[in-house]
Amino acid sequence: MLHDSPQNAGRPETASAAAALPRTGPRCPECLATFESVSPRQLFCSAAHKAAFHNRQTVRGRQLVPLVMAARLTRGGTRGNVVAGRKARRDGDFLMQRWADDDRREGRMSMIDYFALRDRKGFDTLLIR
Ligand SMILES: [Zn+2]
Repeated sequence: MLHDSPQNAGRPETASAAAALPRTGPRCPECLATFESVSPRQLFCSAAHKAAFHNRQTVRGRQLVPLVMAARLTRGGTRGNVVAGRKARRDGDFLMQRWADDDRREGRMSMIDYFALRDRKGFDTLLIR
C-alpha cells in the first residue's frame, strides 16, 4: 500500500486540489473557485460552469418573468387585477428566496454579487433586447 506524504496525511483529496487553485483572481459564479481568466470579460472558470449557470438562469427566468411583470404592472397587486397581482408578487418572492437559498447551499455566487461582477466588467443589462 502507498502512503500519503506527511503533509497530505489525513487530508481529503479536495484539499490538495484546492491548494492548486490560484489564491487571487476572479471567482467563478458557479463554483466560487478562483481562476486565471484569459480575457477581461471572462466570468466563469470553464465552459461547463458557464453553461450550467446560464441553463439554470434560463429556467428560472421563464418562471419568474411573468410573475415579476404581473406584480410590477399591478404595483404589487394594488392596481387593476389585484388578485392576480398579489399572487404573482407572493409567488415571485417565494421563488426568489428559494433560489437564493439553493445558491447558498450549493456554493454558488449570490445574485447580488453576480450582478455587481457583471456591472464591474461592463456588461450592460439594458443593451440586451
Ligand atoms: Zn466554476
